[in-house]
Amino acid sequence: MPALDIHGIKVEFPFTAYEVQKSYMTKVIQALNTHQNAALESPTGTGKTLCLLCSTLAWRRQHLNELKKHANPVSQEETWSSSEKSKDSAIPAPKIIYASRTHSQISQVVKELKRTEYGKDITISILGSREQMCIHPEVSKQTSNQAMVHMCRGKINKHTCQFYNNVEDAKKNNIFTTKVMDIEELVTVGKSRTVCPYYSEREVSKQNECGIIFTPYNYLLDRKSRATNNLEIRGNIVIFDEAHNLEKLCEESTSFDLTSLEVAKCIEEVGDVLDAATKFEESGTVADGHENGESSSLSEFKSQDLAIMKSVFIALEKLLDQVELNKDTKSRSEPGKFMFEFLSKINLTESTYQIMLDVVDKISTYLSTLSNSLRIRGAALQKFSEIVKVAFSWMEDETKGHMTRAQRMQELCMCYRVHICENAETGKSADVWKRSANTSSKPGRTISFWCFSPGYAMTNLVKCGVRNLILTSGTLSPLESFTSELQIDFPITLENDHVIDKHQVFVITLTHGKKGGLLNSTFKTRKDVNQVQELGLTVADMIAAAPGGALVFFPSYSAMAEYLTIWKENSNVMTLVEKVKPCTVEPKNKHELRTAIDKYYTDVNTGGGTFLAVCRGKVSEGLDFSDDNGRTVIIVGIPYPPAFDPRIKMKMAFLDDLRTKGATTLLTGREWYRQQACRAVNQAIGRVIRHRYDYGAIVLCDHRYAGRDQLSELPKWVQPHVVKFNNAAKCIRRLRSFFCSVNEKEKNRLKEAYEYCEFDSKAETSSCKSLSPKTGIATNVKTLNSNKRAKVCIKYSESDQHNNYDMYMSPVSISQPTSTKKRKISSIEKSGPAKQKKSLLDALDNIVSDDEEISDENNSAQNNMPTATTIPDIRKFKQRKKIIVKKKGTQFETSKENTKQESSNNSNQALSFDSTRLTSGPYQYYIECTKSTLSTPLYLEFKKAARDYTKNGDVETVFNSLHDVFMVVGSQHPELLSSFVRFIRAEHRAQYTKLCSARTKQSISILAPQLCRI
Ligand code: SF4
Repeated sequence: MPALDIHGIKVEFPFTAYEVQKSYMTKVIQALNTHQNAALESPTGTGKTLCLLCSTLAWRRQHLNELKKHANPVSQEETWSSSEKSKDSAIPAPKIIYASRTHSQISQVVKELKRTEYGKDITISILGSREQMCIHPEVSKQTSNQAMVHMCRGKINKHTCQFYNNVEDAKKNNIFTTKVMDIEELVTVGKSRTVCPYYSEREVSKQNECGIIFTPYNYLLDRKSRATNNLEIRGNIVIFDEAHNLEKLCEESTSFDLTSLEVAKCIEEVGDVLDAATKFEESGTVADGHENGESSSLSEFKSQDLAIMKSVFIALEKLLDQVELNKDTKSRSEPGKFMFEFLSKINLTESTYQIMLDVVDKISTYLSTLSNSLRIRGAALQKFSEIVKVAFSWMEDETKGHMTRAQRMQELCMCYRVHICENAETGKSADVWKRSANTSSKPGRTISFWCFSPGYAMTNLVKCGVRNLILTSGTLSPLESFTSELQIDFPITLENDHVIDKHQVFVITLTHGKKGGLLNSTFKTRKDVNQVQELGLTVADMIAAAPGGALVFFPSYSAMAEYLTIWKENSNVMTLVEKVKPCTVEPKNKHELRTAIDKYYTDVNTGGGTFLAVCRGKVSEGLDFSDDNGRTVIIVGIPYPPAFDPRIKMKMAFLDDLRTKGATTLLTGREWYRQQACRAVNQAIGRVIRHRYDYGAIVLCDHRYAGRDQLSELPKWVQPHVVKFNNAAKCIRRLRSFFCSVNEKEKNRLKEAYEYCEFDSKAETSSCKSLSPKTGIATNVKTLNSNKRAKVCIKYSESDQHNNYDMYMSPVSISQPTSTKKRKISSIEKSGPAKQKKSLLDALDNIVSDDEEISDENNSAQNNMPTATTIPDIRKFKQRKKIIVKKKGTQFETSKENTKQESSNNSNQALSFDSTRLTSGPYQYYIECTKSTLSTPLYLEFKKAARDYTKNGDVETVFNSLHDVFMVVGSQHPELLSSFVRFIRAEHRAQYTKLCSARTKQSISILAPQLCRI
């Protein structure tokens, strides 16, 4: 693939870049060349991550080469592609600090990086959490993060973690830097070499050679975390991916809540150490429960200090109890400075906070060494320590050296508000013997110190010397208000178009329901049975009209619960929906989410499923619902934040206050409130189109969406596609015909994906690349270009077969797409009967031809789509599809009757893979099974991995790629992964088999030796 030249930077991009991708990379390089910040929006599915990696790494590589030339003028010969791990790698170049919200997002980005040219020679570091990276058998089993932290620290202090003890050696031997590894691979290497990956990666991040540091947001936003993790941002490039929640995260990372129960636990913890220290002082004996601690540590405590500390916490508990609250609301709101007045009453001030922190940290560290899996100790003090650090962060802010203490505190207080309220639970410790003197049984209280200015954290980050700040997401719009909230200048911005064509998305606003009633889902109408029922019946018909999976988003969990109650108890809505596509409800508990998602995917695979979820929930934010997993997104109502939540009310009042004081660039409280709703909608509708060949419908079910204001706040790429309806029946008819027409178009276009030939779209003919660099057999194969969509298959002459490439070679032929109807006569027929084919690539190409027939059948079925009220059996579409697949094969050809029987017995509908049939069958059997098992994107990944292997012969890479494809959590197919050994070159098979056994933990015995023979 020829490199792109963007503003003088040579960018190696693994595919032919689309225009939107070029625009995106141009903006990134523009920002890097000019030292400016950038806010870049590009819809999901436009290859944003890949563009970001390629452009930043290309820029860094070039920058590094220039630095090398200056440092060593003799080596002027250095080329762009020279390895970064050369002997001058100690030259410091800007590092890229890539922040993602979740660990799974980091894994995805690392996976993308491996696919690029840059992934071959860069050193990376992943600053994951202990939950993900700890390999200590006891510590890693802890379910609470706090427990893990305490146990880990305890073991390090006592030198009892053998994995930690080997970190220095691992650093010297480059155990974690030989190649790019994701978290899972780091853990595997860590276990096999008995080295802690968590601490090793922190060591790698400090090295000059390290080009990218992957980190969760919170390590970057919080100054203390940056220091703890040695995350140096000065002079480096900071990227926030999925930055649409950045404002909220900035606010949360600089805010805290302290409950009276937590204060009571602090009293207990200090009291515990006080008692033990006193006993040790008086009698030299160790108190019960302190046997595991080091007596030398206990002897370092002075009873007097501990007694003072305990009295401070008792005073704090009393003080919180005494704050006068509003009798009606049982709460009170105050300006930010109230917090410092409050804390000064227990003598916690800017002059004393450091002394107090030292004592608290010492006690909590000592207690952590006593922690075990049954009891975590010191956690409350640890939390208190973090709270004090947040409250007095302004004291250590090196960027504010020019300001007096009073000015700094005043600046901080302008961004904060204090809130105190009563809690349901009592604020006293359960242990009456260790309770403080104040033994009243009043309800507990919470004092909160809330930051309402995301700019406070962001400006601090920028002032610490960040070279460039790049924020990116699929949904940043409205961009102007987003950047103004962060109070940072973003001279470079982009609101990118989508890569999809017009016919791939259908956006509907619907104002009236099935019976003609107004669709108006507000807080007030939620209990109106008629309105809710009308909405439900309309939604049910929409779900029935669309293929695959449907995602229905409600404004909140409470709204969803109310709607579902009426849909179940006062109407037959849920029965109708269940019959069309079984329902899954998004759970609040994140531990139950995996099970819910697996159920939904199973439903989709067996005919269709409905996911009832909430805006701002996990389903609407981070999950991927590509292809059939998310064909329709239905938004019910407008997801405004809860208006009675004190934090929301205070945020709105805060913004209004700033506006009246002259901050004209900021939003008003009302504007911010509206904007929160529209961001949540934009995020949810981003689920539907996940890649270039995806397609789907977005239905905005509320009359308010038809208003101009609401429409103008939709993402730029969505706005031109909006069609307004006030008649539900007409809307549903159009929805049905959209899916019927798009299905055929997209199936044809899918055939063009992942071509391995480059061709000039303007030329009538063009040359293909050679597939075999080793043999150099096939070159200059000409292909016809029909309507700029020529499909090219490179084939090799049998006479040219080489032992190493035998399985990929078959008679020379050039297949070219014909009209849709003729496509069934593809290269299968031209090359002879299917059973004579010996090439995996043949099988990969020809299986696409089978889709043509499937598509016709499927399409005709969809033309007759029923409505929910007629209780359709959408699953039949899928069954028909599978019957035809089985008819076409030769090795697994069965009678229609048998196939029907098989279909009804196998609810999964995917071909059940039988590895023993490989003994006599051609490759096609394997490919058919793979095709019917994987989703389209995964199948395309599979094809690409197989093809890449034919070119580069990299067995480890092909194994890793296939592992990602076949071992997806919740959909694992080790038999298909291991049976791929059949297509692996003879000299690599032992290695492939070993990798399989190690990673899948399954026996490879299903592969009899003869299966490996071609
Ligand atoms: S040092 Fe590493 S392996 Fe040991 S307990 Fe801590 S995180 Fe786990």
